[in-house]
Amino acid sequence: MDNKGNDALQELEMLTMNAKEVQEFILMKILERNQATEYLSKFMDGSTNISAFKRHVPVVTYDKVQPYILRIATGLGEGKAMYLLFVKAETLTNSGTPVRSVLTSYYKSPHFLHRKHDLYNNYTSPNEVILCPDSQQSMYCQLLCGLVERHLVLRIGAVFASAFLRSISFLEQHWCDLVNDIRIGQLNSGITNPACRLAMLNFLASPNPELADQLEAICSCGSWKGILGRLWPNVKYIEAVLTGTMAQYIPMLEFYGGGGIPLVCTMYASSESYFGVNMRPLCSPADVSYTILPNMAYFEFIPLEDGLRMSDQEEVIENDTLVSLVDVKVGCYYELVVTTFSGLYRYRVGDVLQVTGFYNKTPQFKFICRRNVILSIDSDKTNEEDLHNSVTTAKKILENQNYLLLEYTSYTVTSTVPGHYVLFWEIKFAHDESPPPFDARLIESCCSAVEDSLDCVYRRCKAHDKSIGPLEIRLVEAGAFDALMDLLVSHGSSINQYKTPICIESGLALKVLNSRVIACFFSPRDPACSMVW
Ligand code: AMP
Repeated sequence: MDNKGNDALQELEMLTMNAKEVQEFILMKILERNQATEYLSKFMDGSTNISAFKRHVPVVTYDKVQPYILRIATGLGEGKAMYLLFVKAETLTNSGTPVRSVLTSYYKSPHFLHRKHDLYNNYTSPNEVILCPDSQQSMYCQLLCGLVERHLVLRIGAVFASAFLRSISFLEQHWCDLVNDIRIGQLNSGITNPACRLAMLNFLASPNPELADQLEAICSCGSWKGILGRLWPNVKYIEAVLTGTMAQYIPMLEFYGGGGIPLVCTMYASSESYFGVNMRPLCSPADVSYTILPNMAYFEFIPLEDGLRMSDQEEVIENDTLVSLVDVKVGCYYELVVTTFSGLYRYRVGDVLQVTGFYNKTPQFKFICRRNVILSIDSDKTNEEDLHNSVTTAKKILENQNYLLLEYTSYTVTSTVPGHYVLFWEIKFAHDESPPPFDARLIESCCSAVEDSLDCVYRRCKAHDKSIGPLEIRLVEAGAFDALMDLLVSHGSSINQYKTPICIESGLALKVLNSRVIACFFSPRDPACSMVW
């Protein structure tokens, strides 16, 4: 017998000797490969556990799988995505060089404008509407398109969660006008952009009182909890960046999604470069890791020896301390440095990442925070993640009383001695009925919970050194953070790439929030503080 024959026999021998192990291995591989499919997720909820498979996956005959086979055979070509995408007006430098945000450049490029309209690129919003430089008109028209084609919509989202939620709150304010346009088949006269008006003709070709009645019934019936699934009944998931500061929007997305629509976070990118993708898009936003795409730029990493206590921007980084992409170590924290085709060399992006594992030979990272320390009064240094974690702990107290924290930002008062941290909170009662009489102790206990979960240096300064005063929460009226966004957009932020600043400094932004404060509360006690560290 030749070698091939021998090898085959040996293989057969090995397989049959180890039937049990081989079977388990094969099942594990099948589950790993298919865990994200619609069918398996229905029973396994993303798990690859073999005993869960045996417990939950039913034994079926052809009639149960036929609908899936038919769907694959006929294709899903008719579906669309309602992605709310916006451009930012471009400016010219003195030398005449156009200045644009990265996404505006992309939306104006042939890649986007002449994309093939397959399942993943077929959007409800026409290009002309996305390219409208007036973001309010663009938002109005994009929502109108999405409502008219509501049964075709399979995916909804925006680049960042903040822009998506902003659009939903815009819908909450303007749905009567949108429904009226659909009812009479005419675009609101407030939409003055000629390209938008032209593009919208197709969507409002004739009056559609039937659709208008359906939408009116949905939008006018009390709570907007779960509204997204009612407006877009075929939607499979909501896609947006949900990590980093965007994580604060997850509860609101879950509120509008009614908990039943998966949240999908696919990419990590910036104006400087595209960085990476999430290879497990259906995982919970808290578990997202990004696999760096090694062909996007040259990536290097500054090790953060001291955990998250990172070096500041001005500090000189020794060239030989940088680590290459493939040499980072699992569990360690790094600051990202890129060298790009467009001419940035060893540029500190400002993001701190933690290595969670490797996909083949490429590392995967969890996004931790922006580098900057954002709040500091004395020797305390609170970064974005510290603050976010403390607020996450404190807001559970609110949630137990049926209040949701919609948005927050922070600020340090240093004009008084000692200075103190201020958090601006916009909160909302989660139920339809009017909230019970407000108890000041509720927010005071949130102040204390934030302080309790800040790090030991903060707690020492507050409780022992008395160099930091009691933490303050300023509750702001509904819409205060929309007003902040309007201000920052009017000052040049791109609505598409807008992120609520985790911290604000003095100036107009502070004025906008302060002028909408309804009540202030202070932490009534010192946080626990051990002097041993
Ligand atoms: P910009 O260039 O204005 O779009 O901002 C890019 C920055 O947004 C990145 O450097 C990150 O700080 C943040 N960012 C982008 N994508 C993500 C993501 N998936 N998760 C967390 N933060 C992100």
